Amino acid sequence: MSALFGNYGKRRAQIVKGQGTVVEDSTGKQYLDFTSGIAVASLGHAHPAIVQALQEQSEKLWHISNLFDIPGQETVAQKLIAHTHLAHAFFCNSGAEANEAAIKLARKHTGKNHIITFEKSFHGRTFGAMSATGQGKIHNGFGPLVEKFTILPFNDAAALEATIDDSVAAIMLEMIQGEGGVNCVSLEFATTIAKACDDKGILLIIDEVQTGIGRTGTRYAFEQTVLKPHIVTLAKGLGGGFPVGAMLGTAELYATFSPGAHGTTFGGNPLAMSVAQAVLSHVFEPAFLQQVQDQSAYIVAQLKAHLPSNYTIQGQGLMLGIGCGETEVAAYIAAAEEKGLLLVGAGPNVIRLLPPLTVTKGEIDEAVAILKTILY
Ligand SMILES: *Cc1c(COP(=O)(O)O)cnc(C)c1O
Repeated sequence: MSALFGNYGKRRAQIVKGQGTVVEDSTGKQYLDFTSGIAVASLGHAHPAIVQALQEQSEKLWHISNLFDIPGQETVAQKLIAHTHLAHAFFCNSGAEANEAAIKLARKHTGKNHIITFEKSFHGRTFGAMSATGQGKIHNGFGPLVEKFTILPFNDAAALEATIDDSVAAIMLEMIQGEGGVNCVSLEFATTIAKACDDKGILLIIDEVQTGIGRTGTRYAFEQTVLKPHIVTLAKGLGGGFPVGAMLGTAELYATFSPGAHGTTFGGNPLAMSVAQAVLSHVFEPAFLQQVQDQSAYIVAQLKAHLPSNYTIQGQGLMLGIGCGETEVAAYIAAAEEKGLLLVGAGPNVIRLLPPLTVTKGEIDEAVAILKTILY
């Protein structure tokens, strides 16, 4: 019997080290990691720049708490808001925490409590974020949930128009639903959301915990749409594997998070900030983002050329899904692992591809060759 709770369904391989896109298990077998630890290892494993940033900071100061000014926070915040309409950042340790901060900020700022979210969404496992999540399997057994979340069908403009009224504080959504199946927001739906927020003074919260930090080929996925969120939440790729989350907001929200209104002990600590700074100085370079787009176009073309047409290719940038119709993908994922390719599901019927943003064309060719032997 394990000394651990059994809340994770464990995979077979025990990964002990990694370099770039390649990881190695305890028997010495190598794998191409097309999960990136679920969209986290944005620069791949053991990237020298983030290893160095962590080493250097670890010899100076690990932790001082938010009682004191932490200079790295200002630098990372400046990088995160540059070239956007957003003005301020709050740092925390995870995606769920970033979403908790967003929900609290939206309620306090508007003086309202009703928040609209969507079916198949995933916002995290803490009470607020779980209540916002539109998946019954995430809620089961944990009720009562936090009140006043209305969960509407995704990409259904009519359902949204029928629900919005003056009680709504915020609409919260992912630009591409990650855990829910790599489902993209449609242009029509984005247009309806933008109009609803404008007309009714509703805050727009975009959960970019998975889509943000270059994953979709731009800094943030919302930049590729008509949407201008008031609040953006980040985590996964921001620390390249070091736990760090962030919430970004517009200038109008500044006064609502006044001293003492919200906080966290570890959030934005010097170690996390030094790593995030190193990640952003690579990922937010235009040439780097262009390369993500190029690799995306390449992998999509290869998948379309080599997989039978009954599989659908979904997503954007290096957040891609292979839709398998009604077929359950768990056996495909296990077979790929056997053959040296790590994949993760998105819902029961979609295989998710989340390689490091530094993945090479050669690695894409190898991955597609393995996929070809599994999906036929
Ligand atoms: C992973 C994820 C979260 C939760 O992040 P944690 O760091 O696990 O709390 C929230 N939203 C989205 C879109 C995610 O993909």
